[in-house]
Amino acid sequence: MIRIRLSASHLARFKRELSRAGSREVGGVLAAELISDGVFTIADFSVQRTGGSVASFVREPSMHKRFLRRFFQRTGYEYERFNYIGEWHSHPLFPAVPSPTDLRQMQSIADDPEQVATFVVLLIVRLRPAGKIEATAHAFRRGRLPVTVTLEMEGDCTGGLHANERSQRISLRERVALRDEQCSLDGSR
Ligand SMILES: [Zn+2]
Repeated sequence: MIRIRLSASHLARFKRELSRAGSREVGGVLAAELISDGVFTIADFSVQRTGGSVASFVREPSMHKRFLRRFFQRTGYEYERFNYIGEWHSHPLFPAVPSPTDLRQMQSIADDPEQVATFVVLLIVRLRPAGKIEATAHAFRRGRLPVTVTLEMEGDCTGGLHANERSQRISLRERVALRDEQCSLDGSR
């Protein structure tokens, strides 16, 4: 099982990019930090603002290579801890689930003999009219069926706890109660 955490600041960045792109698809690559066995935090992501239409996104490899080169440099070439984890793109007009084309493309990346990672993730994001991010993630492995990745979105009622709750020294039960209270106050879910 793979879990991926998205911080509030990265979610805010996705929101900005998606609202700027309007009905065009945008996307890029995802760089992650390994936190513990099977648990990752998105550390950074590239954004390619051109090459997308309402229903497709064509990746410009040289731009993402440059992004990863800088990421590795910044994180001290600690590949075991900081590495490429996969791809992301938006679905402005469709649900945030992989299309048949997405599934084919990701499987071909996972099956590529030059691909050294044990899995590659596809994160699909969509900006809802209320300004919330809808997202799903799947992991693709060589010669195997894709599996669903658990997403923990900071500040999201269905996912992780708010950062300010985490910093307080209170019990898990209290934090969950606090979270549920905040979620009902927000009027969301
Ligand atoms: Zn897609």
